Amino acid sequence: MNKFNRSNSSALRLALPACLAALAVGVPAAVAADGGTGVPPGPTVSSASCALQPAWTCARGQLLTIEGENLIRSRRVIFFGSDGSADNISVKLSAKASTATTVRVTVPQSARSGLIRVEGSTGETATTRQDLKVVASLPATDDAKDSSKLVAGGKRQAEFRYDVSGRSAPGARVEAVRGTDGKVVRSWSLVSSGRGEVNWNGFVGKNPARSGTYLLRLNEAAKEEAQVVSGSDTQFQMLEGFFPIRGAHSLSSTSTQKFGGGRGHQGTDHFARCGTPLAAWTSGVVQYNAFQGAAGNYIVVRRANGESYAYMHMRERSPAKVGSKVFAGQRLGHVSDTGHAQGCHLHIELWTAPGWYKGGKPYDSLPLMKRLDKLS
Ligand SMILES: [Zn+2]
Repeated sequence: MNKFNRSNSSALRLALPACLAALAVGVPAAVAADGGTGVPPGPTVSSASCALQPAWTCARGQLLTIEGENLIRSRRVIFFGSDGSADNISVKLSAKASTATTVRVTVPQSARSGLIRVEGSTGETATTRQDLKVVASLPATDDAKDSSKLVAGGKRQAEFRYDVSGRSAPGARVEAVRGTDGKVVRSWSLVSSGRGEVNWNGFVGKNPARSGTYLLRLNEAAKEEAQVVSGSDTQFQMLEGFFPIRGAHSLSSTSTQKFGGGRGHQGTDHFARCGTPLAAWTSGVVQYNAFQGAAGNYIVVRRANGESYAYMHMRERSPAKVGSKVFAGQRLGHVSDTGHAQGCHLHIELWTAPGWYKGGKPYDSLPLMKRLDKLS
């Protein structure tokens, strides 16, 4: 994708006329067309559900599946909430969001419990007879939790415990040592007395440590005043990041999938089955989470070092809120082909500081993807 215009976001609030708001307080729904010749029949809705939830219940940020008839090319879904028209949320649908019998839409973070309405291709509407119960966001899924290795910026951290009993020795520190070359990459001062604890997130300054075997230990001076709590002094693998595609995949190989590719391709394309989970490769703060005609559902995460990365063509809007922190391994979405995409794939962009369309420049993400793929 080139010349990316991010002005087109979704989830716009729609001020509904009073006649529509009246329906939200209980007028039965589903006004179907009479089926006269040449007029496509209007939509009907029969159920609404989200994964891992009872029927008619969804968490904010979850993908809601609405079932019914004549739903193809539905234009929008309105979440009525409970407070008249003031809390109505209207979500415009992309062409791929509907089939004849289903509409899929991400429950907006601002949505509240209430009836929902689908606006069909001709402008006719169908409203549910029952409220959709909207609950708080689900806790973030950690795709790295079953990995035997730790990931810099991940939810799990390296832990080291020690007890201070002697007098303070000058230069006493806890050190993170890299196994391959014995280099001390980071160190921490000791507590003055009692039980001390170091939790290392794998970062050295604003960047993840290079992937490798590490050990947390007391340095020589610290051994005069402190003892390691047994079990703390084990080596561990710390990775610079987590491979984002959590299933079978191919790495970009053809010129059109690669960076540049003679067409100003700002990312690299990696193919996987539609619906394969996508995890944050490193930690950061969500900068954008939106839909755009070319990018489809996309997310941009700003890293501690000022760089940023973007995932595009995702199946639904990411559950990660703009402004929220994400950890390495956190589920950000699923591989799909929303926007301009031929086949389900992850389009990933890496940008130098100060980041994505903030003055940074895109650079080739393939070397990183190859490194991460080997290790995680
Ligand atoms: Zn691409």
